[in-house]
Amino acid sequence: MSPYEVIQIDESSWRIEDKIVRAFLFEGTDRAMLVDTTTGSGDLAAAVRALTTKPVLLVNTHADDDHIGCNGQFDLAYMHPAEFAYYAEMRRPGFAPPAPLQDGEIIDLGGRRFEVILIPGHTYGSIALLERERRVLVGGDAVSSTPVFIFGRMRNLAAFQVSLRRLRSRWDEFDVVYPSHGVFPIHKKQIDNELQCAARLERGELAPMEPPFSLPAKMFRSDDAGFYATAEQDSGPA
Ligand SMILES: [Zn+2]
Repeated sequence: MSPYEVIQIDESSWRIEDKIVRAFLFEGTDRAMLVDTTTGSGDLAAAVRALTTKPVLLVNTHADDDHIGCNGQFDLAYMHPAEFAYYAEMRRPGFAPPAPLQDGEIIDLGGRRFEVILIPGHTYGSIALLERERRVLVGGDAVSSTPVFIFGRMRNLAAFQVSLRRLRSRWDEFDVVYPSHGVFPIHKKQIDNELQCAARLERGELAPMEPPFSLPAKMFRSDDAGFYATAEQDSGPA
């Protein structure tokens, strides 16, 4: 049985729910774009083929394992080059080799265009995808109703805040965010909620709480946003 629940968003966009995480399929007139491949528990390629007959371009928002699980079912995995080293570590035998997507690059699906926005912090090479025409930001893990993982290797809260401000600088170009986890969709004001939460975390105003599952980090929450964090921050690639 397929582990996926496919939910149509509009006439040419779908979200593919895999319990704790989701992928997206966006179809243009020439080709379709699959964003992330979830946990690897099913035949995602078959689920995608049931939705579109167009050639499919795979883009990974980043290389955490719950976003690349079915990368073995595709030929190439487009991502920002700053993510290549992490992907090389996370990649399992048979996984699609990486291909570069640059900051500012436009992915043209035919009648639909997505701009790549580099947003390091959650990982070095995390990206968001902006579809201005439909006023949508595909945010990966960066903008979410669920707490953002910001502890351990690859992750840095200061860099993350710079990235959130970068998204905020594009405020007039989108209304909603399509996140990889939690509530779908969410209003762009979640960017501000996360910025406020990060500032309060840095000022020591938020009490550490135990995460709901086993993690070598604490959970910090303000009213509408949260982080899994520790005192140590990764300051960048070695
Ligand atoms: Zn992630």
